[in-house]
Formats: sequence, C-alpha cells, structure tokens
Amino acid sequence: MKSLNLSLLSCVLLLLVLTPTFAQTTDVYSCVTDLVIPDRAATSKISRAVYQPSKKWIPGQEIRVRFLDGNEYVKSKVRQYAETWEEFANIDFVFVQSGPAEIRISFTLDKGSWSYFGKDSARQSQVKTENGSQFVRDATGASMNFGWFNDKTPEEEFRRTTLHEFGHALGLHHEHQNKNQNIQWNEEAVYAYFAKQGWSREKTQSQVLKKYGNDSEISNGVYDPLSIMHYYYPPELIKGGAKVRSNSVLSANDKAIIEEMYPFDEDIATVPKPPVNKPPTTTPVKPPVQPSGPTISFSDVSVDFEGYDEKTEQDGMTFTSDFKVKNGLKQEFAFAIYFYTANGKPLKDSNKKFYSTTGSVSVFKKFTPAYADAVYNQFEIFMPYEELEIECGEHNLKYSIGIWSGQKRVSSTGYTYFTLDIPCEE
Ligand SMILES: [Zn+2]
Repeated sequence: MKSLNLSLLSCVLLLLVLTPTFAQTTDVYSCVTDLVIPDRAATSKISRAVYQPSKKWIPGQEIRVRFLDGNEYVKSKVRQYAETWEEFANIDFVFVQSGPAEIRISFTLDKGSWSYFGKDSARQSQVKTENGSQFVRDATGASMNFGWFNDKTPEEEFRRTTLHEFGHALGLHHEHQNKNQNIQWNEEAVYAYFAKQGWSREKTQSQVLKKYGNDSEISNGVYDPLSIMHYYYPPELIKGGAKVRSNSVLSANDKAIIEEMYPFDEDIATVPKPPVNKPPTTTPVKPPVQPSGPTISFSDVSVDFEGYDEKTEQDGMTFTSDFKVKNGLKQEFAFAIYFYTANGKPLKDSNKKFYSTTGSVSVFKKFTPAYADAVYNQFEIFMPYEELEIECGEHNLKYSIGIWSGQKRVSSTGYTYFTLDIPCEE
C-alpha cells in the first residue's frame, strides 16, 4: 500500500501541468496562484479527488523568506505587511539574507504580482530566461513577485498586495472564486475588461470566473466579500452594478480562517508562549516543579483523496504524517481526525463505526512510543468516504488532526478545508 502511494505520487507529479501566466496590469491588483491541472483520469468514485501533497504549512513552522532583489525600501514594506499575518496565524516568517528559503521574492521577474500556493512555494519557482520567465520544479527561482512596487507606491497598495500574495503563500485561494459566492457576472464585460490588460479569455476564466472545485484543499467557507483575497471589480462587470469594495486590510473572516488553519494552540508545548505580565507580588512564591509532559511536533502531513482500503474495499482518504514525540515513553496516544462542514458543524455519526465520544464523525488510531524520544514516519490512517455519512453531491468540508493523551490534546495541525463531490447513483 505504501509503495503504491509513493509511485502514485511521483507519477502525478510528473503529470501535473503548471501554466502560470502573469498579469500586465496597473489598475487591477491581480496575481496568479498555481494552476495545477490534474492530467490523469480519476480512478476513484470521487470524481474530483486529486492526489496532492498537502499545501498547508505546519502550525508553528518557521518559514524562511528571502529577497532575491529589490531596494531596501520596498523590501521593508513587504516585510512589514507580511508580518501582519503572524498576528493571526501561528506561523513564523524568518527573513534570511542568504541560503535556502521556502519563500523567495523578486520585484523584477515580470510586471505582475503573484505567488505560488502554500507549500508549493518551497518546491516550485519562476526563473528569468532570455525569453522571459520560466517555470522550474525546484526552489532556484522566485516563488513570489511584486512587479509594480517601487518607491512611489502608496502605502495602501503595499498593504493590499503584500497581504494578498502572502495569503496565497499561506494557502488561501481567491475569495471571488468561492463557490458559495453568487456574483451575477456580466461575463462579456469581464472578458473585455481583463483583455485590456492582456489577459486571454482562458486566464480570465481561471483567475476570475471559475469557482473552486478542482482542488481538494481549499479555503471556501462562508463567502466573504470583504476578504483581502477578493479582487476589486468596477460595478459594470456585475449585473445590476452591485458594488464590490476595494479591500486593503484583513477582514474578520480572513483572520478567523487563518487562525483555524494555523492555530495558536495552548496545548502545543513546542510553541514558545509569549511572556505574561504578572501582577506584582510582595512575597515571591516559587512555582512548583512540573514534571515535563510529552511534546509532539509534526513535520509533514499529507492526504491522498484517492485512498483505498483493500480489506474493506472502500474508497477514502489516506492521511500520512511524520511527527516526533518527546517524553512519551510507554504512554498511550490517540491520533485523531475530526470532520466538519466548512462552516464548523461536526459531521454527525449514526452507525457508531467512526465516531467520537460526542457522536461526531472521526477516525483515530492509538500508538504507544517505545522510546522516550520517538520518530514516526509515514504514520497512516484511513477514513472511508462512506463513513463521513453525507449525502451525494458537492460538499465543502474541513478536517482537523490532533494527537491526544487522555483528555488533553498535545498537538494539532489545525483545520484544512476540502471539497468532496460524491456522485449520486443513477
Ligand atoms: Zn491572487
């Protein structure tokens, strides 16, 4: 089973077609994210499922950021607004001067502003060639570009575009493409508007008109027109001339969703806590010595949406994780995954096969480390689609993965959104 998954992975990686095209624009704040087109017929019943390594970073992770060019002023502005995300996401951007970096930023690669999506930033990039920029499947080039930033750029524009591109780099998609959105486009006007800045109909289709659906990991909760991930459009592009605000700050929902994806979990002992301002005391009290509890840190989590269990002959999701356990000798842990609708309702279990103590759908697997410091690689857990107990049709869902010791959650990877399209039987 394991070797099958690995061969699937390399096969799909070879087949993935990436076709970035770039905005040539001055008045619309556009960008590209990755456009990954699965070039392989789905073998599973779940027609939209696509095997992909997880694109979300691990909560608490250090993400190194390096500028490939640009002057000190524009670099300082990008850094300033990128760091805004750190207030709401448990992510640590570390700006490095040299050496490897997960996010590599150029100001000169082309005239557009764009970013690769989530962890793809660490494994894909654009390099400059004589014939313009070119895609490479490694980290030698830029993963993000700010083509219209210069010393005269207004503050608001630095803020809007930096927040937006770093939103992509953290794993957020375009909000105007949220499938829960109900914008009545004036389609021909949309094509004409973007054609003026050199976009083909295909590009306008993929960056503006198309709604989510082909990607299994997406952030598509409740539609939020105030999101920083939403483009601005002039009213004539929408039937009835509905107003779309020009957003340049994080909305309440942007903050909420990124905190869900990268939670500041009180229980995650590996995350350093901020100092607490203690009230002054006259008699210093020695804190009792706490025995150090177990700590767990994830290094990778991925999900195969075309998982299959040979024993039960069921289709499902296969989760594969790498993590370390410290101080966990001979203690029993539960690796548990909980499933919810995108707006946060736990999926209800009725047949008591895959369920939690509260009656919601979940899957778990117990393990007991045989060493004080144990490393788990390729820890697998399978969730059959049938046991999600949802009707046929398209569903916006999310899951969260946690490792528990008794009633205490020791570590969590936060929420990951996904879409499931379960075909209705004829
Ligand atoms: Zn964008």
